[in-house]
Amino acid sequence: MLDIRSLSCLELETYMRERGLPEFRGRQLFKWLWKNRITSVQEVTEFSKELREQLAQHLLIYNLEQVSRKISVDGTIKWAFRLRDSLIVETVLIPEKDHSTLCISSQAGCAMGCAFCLTGKMGFFRNLDPSEIAGQALAVLRDITVAKPPRNIVFMGMGEPLANFENLLKAIEILTSDLGLNFSQRRITVSTCGIVPNIIELGRRSSAGLAISLHATTNTQRDRLMPINKAYPIETLLNACRDFNLPARRRITFEYLLLKGINDAPEDARRLSALLRGIPSKINLIPFNECPEIPFSEPERDSVLRFQEILKELNNTVIIRKSKGRDISAACGQLFYDRHDKKISGKDLTGCLSCS
Ligand code: SF4
Repeated sequence: MLDIRSLSCLELETYMRERGLPEFRGRQLFKWLWKNRITSVQEVTEFSKELREQLAQHLLIYNLEQVSRKISVDGTIKWAFRLRDSLIVETVLIPEKDHSTLCISSQAGCAMGCAFCLTGKMGFFRNLDPSEIAGQALAVLRDITVAKPPRNIVFMGMGEPLANFENLLKAIEILTSDLGLNFSQRRITVSTCGIVPNIIELGRRSSAGLAISLHATTNTQRDRLMPINKAYPIETLLNACRDFNLPARRRITFEYLLLKGINDAPEDARRLSALLRGIPSKINLIPFNECPEIPFSEPERDSVLRFQEILKELNNTVIIRKSKGRDISAACGQLFYDRHDKKISGKDLTGCLSCS
């Protein structure tokens, strides 16, 4: 059966038209799905009983099943959701002063194999479909314990969003529809480890913001940390950033995970600044969150501050990203192995949230 949460408003209109029904029924159904948050076609009271029954024979509404929710001392919330094939994905809500940011997963597992990432080590299970991607936002909005609904969405959860490109674009279309959840495209950021062809395509086909997980300043370093660099080395990646169709007054975010003794030397800071010259950019420094499974260490606070200082002196916009939700393994860059979730899923799969 067709999961209609994976269809855009336009596709639902087409679906109705092809069955001899008026197109506006598609718009109505889309609105009921995303604004009224129905869980079954039978709840669409705007439709006649006959129409509801007719549609229910062919259409399915798949609802993510919440299997756990953890709340950090700093207010960060992490949900684990079960997909229809029992895989688990995780979603994190990060509270800010006047709003909150939702961190969404785009794949179950990941094929990119970044050396600092546990999900990378676990391998790839499958792409999430649009309903499972956008459905994470819906599931969070449905949770009545959320005090500050999300204003921003970042694709920095499990998986590489640009490796699930068409489903990502469809999910963004659904999330930003004014008949649906009505998020602003300007408040959506897609983070990538550097799949160059799809970076260019993303700029052409959406106005979402771009974040690049750079994490190194030489190809030798980056080859070691991120295998994608062998296909798209730093120069190719940064040229794609220069060509990216950046909306006015926006900048590309460069995420830089600081790993002690690997990429945190003063010369790395100077090289980073030189690499980004000419690209409207801001840099997020993320001191590595240590975990036993990954053989890297967090740099001393002094060397993190020195790294930031050098970048500032070279006129870069740079912040040190505060790690939120560390106590519940939800912080960005925090690599964890959640045995509880493993038990629930029955598979060696857990959230990554390290794709910064
Ligand atoms: S850091 Fe991101 S791209 Fe790299 S393996 Fe982890 S989830 Fe995949």
